[in-house]
Amino acid sequence: MEKIQETSLEIKERFAKVNVQLQEKDITERLSALVNKFRVPINEARRNVINYFLKVHNINQDEFFANAGFANQNPVKIAELVEDNKWCTFNARVSILWDARHEKILQTGVLGDETGTIVFTTWKSGGSPVLEEGKCYTFKNVVTSEWQGRMSIKINKNSEILPYQGDITVAKKLVTIVGAMVDLQQGSGLIKRCPECNRSLSKGSCGEHGKVEGTYDLRIKGVIDDGIASHDVILNRKLTEELTGITLDKAREIATEALDVGTVADEMGRKIIGSYFEVTGVQVDKNLIVDSIKPFRADVSNQVDALLAAAEA
Ligand SMILES: [Zn+2]
Repeated sequence: MEKIQETSLEIKERFAKVNVQLQEKDITERLSALVNKFRVPINEARRNVINYFLKVHNINQDEFFANAGFANQNPVKIAELVEDNKWCTFNARVSILWDARHEKILQTGVLGDETGTIVFTTWKSGGSPVLEEGKCYTFKNVVTSEWQGRMSIKINKNSEILPYQGDITVAKKLVTIVGAMVDLQQGSGLIKRCPECNRSLSKGSCGEHGKVEGTYDLRIKGVIDDGIASHDVILNRKLTEELTGITLDKAREIATEALDVGTVADEMGRKIIGSYFEVTGVQVDKNLIVDSIKPFRADVSNQVDALLAAAEA
């Protein structure tokens, strides 16, 4: 109830900024019907009620959001973005762009500042400019969004993205993604590393030290698709063993029996491709260096649907 009153007041104040005086009672009635009778989440109810009054008073949506002072104009830091559905403004560097996997998505990736990182998505329908990896921008009037406990940034028609002149150092923070393992890349499974520099060998040769007697190692270079983007993830030996149940010794056995090192990756692929995982790690260039990985039971297509619905609202 308190939440409804608070939201009513907020809506009333926002409309007052565009010179429309609403009765608080009218707002509260609509909100509480949606929330209490129809069990609509408060954020959706708020959006619904705002849209209703926009229509009633024949107010242009873009103008309303531009003038109603939705966003706090003082830039905040990414670490402060902890609450769902908050309008905000901040400066950030585009620390990585992922390959978008959905036709309606323009770009998706990670934004960062000194305090943390956050995933963002822009939509082809949203009119956002194309962002460049490594460049800094001011993100005005963007909205936070929470899905499965993870925050992201929605950039909509009322948002504005401007070049930012200052310099921003991005904190190395963990990124979490949820999606299906769709592929294992070349270099997965049983590999050999150079004893001098630890680089993986290609046909028994190190790029730096030439032909060497390599030492065996296990790793997975996987591709995880979260419905929005594909992510290259790298798992070290320990995580690979835990995830596949294939130890280094077992892997050598498999390779020896088959007279083919590639058999190890094939067998690992059979165990994990098509399964859903929650993966946490540090993004280094194009790769997510995985820190932890665990099975995840949910349909990630929900995430795309939810984001699409929000983007088009
Ligand atoms: Zn080497």
